[in-house]
Amino acid sequence: AAAASGTAGIRPRGVLGKLPRYAAGKPPVVVEGLESFKLSSNENPLPPLPAVLAAIASETAINRYPDPMTTALRTELAGYLGVPATDIVTGAGSLGALNQILATFAGQNDFDAPDEVIYAWRSFEAYPISVGLAGATGVQVPVREDGTHDLDAMVAAITDRTRVIMLCTPNNPTGPILTRDDVVRFLTGVPPHVVVVIDEAYQEFVRRPDAVDGIALYREHANVIVLRTFSKAHGLAGLRVGYSVSQPALTEHLRVSAVPFAVSQVAEHAAVTSLRHIEEVEARVQSIVDERDRVVEGLRDLGWRVPEAEGNFVWLALGEHTQDFAAKAAERALSVRAFGSEGVRVSIGEGAANTRFLELCGEYTHRP
Ligand code: PMP
Repeated sequence: AAAASGTAGIRPRGVLGKLPRYAAGKPPVVVEGLESFKLSSNENPLPPLPAVLAAIASETAINRYPDPMTTALRTELAGYLGVPATDIVTGAGSLGALNQILATFAGQNDFDAPDEVIYAWRSFEAYPISVGLAGATGVQVPVREDGTHDLDAMVAAITDRTRVIMLCTPNNPTGPILTRDDVVRFLTGVPPHVVVVIDEAYQEFVRRPDAVDGIALYREHANVIVLRTFSKAHGLAGLRVGYSVSQPALTEHLRVSAVPFAVSQVAEHAAVTSLRHIEEVEARVQSIVDERDRVVEGLRDLGWRVPEAEGNFVWLALGEHTQDFAAKAAERALSVRAFGSEGVRVSIGEGAANTRFLELCGEYTHRP
């Protein structure tokens, strides 16, 4: 059939056959008589701010291309973060920004063997795909039993082929943060030519005062790039807006590899408007944090062992019971994210969703 349709000679790059498939969060499960809840993609369960919806509706000149420099958004972000606008590079989600970073700093250009990118595992499931597509080799360093990065092992994994190291804090899916002290000490062990990406997709949900804040750090560290997103705290996952922050010596290169017009004007206007209503955003984030703390305390009261949860999700290291637990959740119209036979990640959702999740955990006997 391939020959008949004339595609016999078309072959994708070899690396494609080796990449894991990105499994997007399961859609809501329908169960008769029960409201369905999607707790599988770490989304914000709250509806968009009215002002954001109005901003989206006001964008009518969509026959025109957006501002390729996203000047309005970078200016607004600069004020919010207290950094120069020149240090900010926007992208289609933080994943778009990350792909740009990898395309810029890691690939097959400089050595006979591919460049290496070190990251913790398990961590965000898009990393292996993005690294592989960039042409680099991923080097996975197992997280510790408590779900934290093993930073000493990550330093030990550095070779003369290492180009980029990814840190994820709070780590998706296990939950814990990295402290500022941890990261500063880690950076002393990293050669200055190795780029360190700190993925802070869930930074706004962090409440530990000693957690690293990449924005407070990158100006003293020329090799650090901070990744942030509007998908989680701002609840704009469907619009795809994220950004990286780093010193101009790095942003200069990132602008060369930028996907032109990656952020639409609709998305840009929505993100700017969300920043201008930051008190409302922060109040919503706090309500999610309160729910997270209720869920974690509830689980621990039930005797569950739960790692630190500083994002908008909790990690249940259910091992061989992972798929069974996810199936039981689905019976109650809760879609959760099951990872092989490692564990289940459950996003913090609506109050009723979290309560139903806790009820399930109260009845489930195989507890981590
Ligand atoms: N980084 C981490 C750690 C994530 O969990 C996610 C989303 N699940 C992303 C990046 C990508 O988010 P987005 O592209 O929507 O900004």
